[in-house]
Amino acid sequence: MRISRLNRVRVGERLFDLILDPDAGTVSLIVPAGGAKENMQAGIKDAGGLLYLPTLKDRHTHLDKHFLGEPWKPLQPFVTLPGQLAFEQTLLASLPTTAAERARRLLDVLLDQGTTKIRTHVDVDPRIGLSHLEDVLAVREQYRGRMEIEIVAFPQQGLLRSESVAIMKRALRAGADLVGGVDPAGLDRQLERSLEAMFELSAEFDAGVDLHLHDPGHLGAYTIERFADLTAEAGKAGRASVSHAYCLGQIPPEQSRELARRLGDEGVAIVTSVPIDRPMPRVGELLAEGVDVGIGTDNVRDAWSPFGNGDLLARTSRLAERFGWVTDDDLLKAFALPADGPLEPVEGAPATFMLVDSQHPMHAVASVPAREAVFSRGQLVGGRWAGREKPGVGG
Ligand SMILES: [Zn+2]
Repeated sequence: MRISRLNRVRVGERLFDLILDPDAGTVSLIVPAGGAKENMQAGIKDAGGLLYLPTLKDRHTHLDKHFLGEPWKPLQPFVTLPGQLAFEQTLLASLPTTAAERARRLLDVLLDQGTTKIRTHVDVDPRIGLSHLEDVLAVREQYRGRMEIEIVAFPQQGLLRSESVAIMKRALRAGADLVGGVDPAGLDRQLERSLEAMFELSAEFDAGVDLHLHDPGHLGAYTIERFADLTAEAGKAGRASVSHAYCLGQIPPEQSRELARRLGDEGVAIVTSVPIDRPMPRVGELLAEGVDVGIGTDNVRDAWSPFGNGDLLARTSRLAERFGWVTDDDLLKAFALPADGPLEPVEGAPATFMLVDSQHPMHAVASVPAREAVFSRGQLVGGRWAGREKPGVGG
């Protein structure tokens, strides 16, 4: 469906008509709403007062590891991390689909829910080599213009534990954008050496870093301190993230506030998937100290969790609810975390936005409405209007 004019779009309190340039991918003109006219042959669609919102950025996904569209996989209780890693390897090896097919499925699900920018971690290790990465790199080209995709080479089996430094170099040479890592102490059991190896790779390839950190309490907090030290030494402010960082919600508040100040000063971001089964970073405190906080949907029916559907707006709502953010100021603060643009359209700017049946962004965070339409650079890429088929086997 090629749309060049959207009539009656709600922006704040008022209705406007948006004139789009689908070739340039921009909003060319914004005028007061004229009426409910629709003429699909001429590319004119009536939005009927649906609310304009920016699309969303998901800062932690795994395009290669979900089971969407696959027959149900019964999981086993999590006992130890090495045991879980072996279980995941077996499950992934049993899938009949390629990582490319799985990546496309999840990308379509994400686009349908208003996400147009993601950071995906992609497994890399000596056993699977670059097979997942090569697939995701190819899929990134197929989705160029619709979804912005940043790729983290992720040594899920442990950077040192699985002797993955050499394969990580090949991954970064092949096109991965960032250096990943996981539990330098808990999994690699060599905290300093593991962190140093990450930062050496990031220096060699001028890449950002994004560390999966599940290590708890003071062990996790110490890891974050050292991560911040190395970020400063390497000059990586604004290009370094710690994902999960549950420890920030486990140590006493006075200690986490001090650490938050440090993260704000050194430009280290914290990315959370908003768990509800364990402590999580105190997001209000991080924001108050100027820390860049991102939200990721992370697990979508995979070897780690049967839950998750990739809906970042729902995950944002969960964050607000979890922290008791009930005022309009707080709901707006929550929406700002995943929002990838201003709340109002701008003439000449990319036509990347979504339309929902809500009164304003606060209402959208609270009610999690269906995404009626999702536009990326002037193209309709998702939402109900796109009428995309679900992945199958019950989605
Ligand atoms: Zn992850």
